[in-house]
Amino acid sequence: MADVAVIGGGAAGAAAFGELLTRFDAGTVHWIVGQHAPGRGVAYGTGDDRHLLNVRASAMGVFQEHAEDFIQHASRQLGQVKGTDFLPRRIFGDFIQAQVGARIDAARRAGRSFRIHPESAREIVSRGERGYAVRVGADRWLEVGQVVLAVGALAQRPLRTVSTTALASGAYELDPWRLDRHPSAPRRVMVIGTGLTAVDTLLSAALRWPHAELVAVSRHGLLPFTHSAMPLAPYARQEELNRALLSSDGAARMFRLVREAMQGAAGDAEWRSIIDGMRPVNAQLWQQLSHARRRQFLRHVRWVWEAARHRMAPATGEAINQLHEEGRLQVLAARVLDVDGTAPLQVTLRERSTQLVSVLEADLVIQATGLDTAVAYGAHDLLSQLLRDGLATADPLQLGVLAQADGQLLSADGRPHPGLYAIGSLLRGNLWECTAMPEIRVAAHRLAVRLSQASLVSRESASELP
Ligand SMILES: Cc1cc2nc3c(=O)[nH]c(=O)nc-3n(C[C@H](O)[C@H](O)[C@H](O)COP(=O)(O)OP(=O)(O)OC[C@H]3O[C@@H](n4cnc5c(N)ncnc54)[C@H](O)[C@@H]3O)c2cc1C
Repeated sequence: MADVAVIGGGAAGAAAFGELLTRFDAGTVHWIVGQHAPGRGVAYGTGDDRHLLNVRASAMGVFQEHAEDFIQHASRQLGQVKGTDFLPRRIFGDFIQAQVGARIDAARRAGRSFRIHPESAREIVSRGERGYAVRVGADRWLEVGQVVLAVGALAQRPLRTVSTTALASGAYELDPWRLDRHPSAPRRVMVIGTGLTAVDTLLSAALRWPHAELVAVSRHGLLPFTHSAMPLAPYARQEELNRALLSSDGAARMFRLVREAMQGAAGDAEWRSIIDGMRPVNAQLWQQLSHARRRQFLRHVRWVWEAARHRMAPATGEAINQLHEEGRLQVLAARVLDVDGTAPLQVTLRERSTQLVSVLEADLVIQATGLDTAVAYGAHDLLSQLLRDGLATADPLQLGVLAQADGQLLSADGRPHPGLYAIGSLLRGNLWECTAMPEIRVAAHRLAVRLSQASLVSRESASELP
């Protein structure tokens, strides 16, 4: 069967679908988008314009080639926009939808076959050499030769330390984007997590409840660093550094090299330039680390790497500083030992520096602990079915699923599942950095080329059959 199915209606699904629309002509391209507005996904579905992109406008895009670039598009909505600006994520969601719309129009004009399904994919069954059957919605089956899983990260699971009473109270929110579910004004809001999602949650909560006291808590209490207002000069010896990193023999040596480079950076270059300059080799560096080294990185370095690598837009940083200065926001470095009770919830914390245990009351606790890709534990019906049937294998560090470098899924014994691919967060175990648009659009392009070539090869070999 020559058709192809892209599963997932977020930005990664949009990128894969749009790239396939322009080059896949062996059969029908199916896009199974689920219930949300196609193309926006979690990141670009926000309607709050204080939620800014954490990448400059000039680096944002959904395809390798656009009908119109993001800066032009945004300028039509916002007036003159510069490539160095950090724009609202909502505008990028509009842009994705406009770009996909343009590709759909072009595909129609070219007579290409495609279908968009507003349901979820529920099941995938292998048909051996004939490809896969994908169940869409309750009982509709699509027979396809190749599948792309673009399902994003999992919905958050409650932390183990949250009691069932607290969960049932309605005062513990697992979806940081659904503050609208809480109509009454809380006196104290606690956000668990201090990454980019937590920062956006704090800004929304501050605006929604102007009299609420805000507390953010994470083990290290480190908020993301801030981008510089203007792009920095690249580090002059970046190439040399990247080469040395690639030939280094372990994590400790890598960190030493990066630290030395930061100390030696001169002129307008600084640590941010160095971290950003490592982007082209990050996946390779990750792949060079043994399982034990990766585990070490996750346990000891990840918190500071994430804060330095995934930085806040300058305006976001200023808004957070203002909340600090007004005395409305407190950021704690502490472990959450227990969340119990009804509104107000009782949150038991152990402070990192003193190890003192204390109980803080909060009328609303919001969990914003970041990407969850622990597919073996999450409640995602499709992924659970794929694991059960051996079509996917959980990454041992819970960073998505096992896959080849090109995204093709692997079974537990390392055999690839021909024609079954993933893109985006599910590949963190393989690539580490694969969740932001600059990486996603390159991956989507490569995948579309590969899938189109594969369908061509199978068509040619079918025509050679007697
Ligand atoms: C808050 C936030 C801000 C970010 N900001 C930026 C930024 O500024 N710049 C940047 O480059 N990156 C940013 N990112 C990274 C972001 O992850 C990517 O840019 C991109 O949005 C990821 O899209 P995705 O499609 O992989 O995942 P998602 O957005 O999670 O989309 C996956 C979609 O698949 C659907 N789905 C799941 N299962 C099924 C199924 N069985 N059938 C059908 N559909 C299904 C889900 O409902 C969801 O709509 C941000 C991420 C977050 C969370």
